[in-house]
Amino acid sequence: MIDLKEFIRDVPDFPKKGIVFKDITPLLKNAAAFRRAAKEIADRYRGQKVDAVLGIEARGFIIGAAVAQKLGTGFLPVRKPGKLPYKTRSASYELEYGTDTLEIHEDAVAKGDRILIVDDLLATGGTMNACCGLVESLGGVIVGIAFLVELDFLKGREKLSGHEVVSLINYD
Ligand code: AMP
Repeated sequence: MIDLKEFIRDVPDFPKKGIVFKDITPLLKNAAAFRRAAKEIADRYRGQKVDAVLGIEARGFIIGAAVAQKLGTGFLPVRKPGKLPYKTRSASYELEYGTDTLEIHEDAVAKGDRILIVDDLLATGGTMNACCGLVESLGGVIVGIAFLVELDFLKGREKLSGHEVVSLINYD
């Protein structure tokens, strides 16, 4: 049995001093670990109706697309502003300093579509909370929210109450 945590590399002071960046590239580089991670997430939702997997730029694309392939669904990208070419809807959210924005194509989610949202890492939960707002504003139903890594001590889960949150690798 693979211990996925062994494939997460701590990079201190990236992207700025005081942050310990959880680098998932060693996990992505290892075929067995990458496959295992996508399978573990997908297995939690087998037997449930999932219309599409949605991933958040950029690392959420990698994990999300792999999960979509396992579940046999399509993939929906949520991106940073100005990247999506068609009509978009956007949501802004607070960062430590300033705000950030996410965008989705207006026709990505139809009313009643059952969406599984995937990202690489849950920290404060601001990013995912904004993403949930986008999906729900289009009438989508959030089946679940899945992360490779959760920084439990930041309590981001509390911002996502009302949704089922799954994470494979935890830091208390
Ligand atoms: P948050 O909105 O605070 O939950 O931050 C989540 C987003 O920021 C995710 O898309 C992560 O990719 C990134 N992120 C935040 N903190 C870290 C960290 N310590 N290591 C790696 N990525 C992080």
